[in-house]
Amino acid sequence: MALGAGWVTDWIRGCAAVVAEHRSELVRLDREIGDGDHGENLDRGFTAVLARLDGVDADATPGAILKLVASTLISTVGGASGPLLGTAFLKGAAAAGDATELDGAALVAVLTAARDGVVLRGKAEVGDKTMIDAWTPAVEAATAAQQAGAEPAAILAAAADAAAAGAESTEPLVARKGRASYLGARAVGHRDPGAQSSALLLRAAADAARGGSAGSPATDGAGGA
Ligand code: ADP
Ligand code: MG
Repeated sequence: MALGAGWVTDWIRGCAAVVAEHRSELVRLDREIGDGDHGENLDRGFTAVLARLDGVDADATPGAILKLVASTLISTVGGASGPLLGTAFLKGAAAAGDATELDGAALVAVLTAARDGVVLRGKAEVGDKTMIDAWTPAVEAATAAQQAGAEPAAILAAAADAAAAGAESTEPLVARKGRASYLGARAVGHRDPGAQSSALLLRAAADAARGGSAGSPATDGAGGA
């Protein structure tokens, strides 16, 4: 089932909730290998996004909402992650275009454009111990799931799982981009805060799709867990 503006709104509200919930964890991770502001940066940004979501037109497209998120993050987050995540949402918005609903292929296009935006802006590669270590496996898993015929919710679940594994994979790495790169071998043993937060944002996307905001109720008669 394709995902519409309702899913985007649920996703972004979920991002704000998960960032608030994990704020001190993200601060702690960034204190270990950065300057300790990552949780605050993102919490400030998504709090501002929430305030603006209430003013969104009822007939806004997914792309229009993603664009609003982008401009809000760029103007409020600060740090390295503000422009990077802002660019991700901006490029994702452009990929969504004027569509009112995103099918699996469109979702993969949005995620790919978002990842490519971060790369364009930050020039990081997989293994540099940045948010790209979450985004790129997520895009690859989403692409594979879509090619295997998965529905949007399952595509996003695959992306979220891969992003979580990708965030964990940053722990043994030496950083080659961002503040953590100044630490050399001292960054080893610490998870990259931006990879962790990106994994949380992608989990929120999957959870919002699972929440089934896109239309008719499930009628498969499954009894649940
Ligand atoms: P700052 O480093 O300016 O304090 P944040 O703490 O908000 O900004 O964000 C730090 C995160 O930004 C890092 O954990 C990393 O994931 C990400 N990051 C930093 N530089 C880059 C880059 N060049 N490319 C991709 N991600 C980056
Ligand atoms: Mg920081």
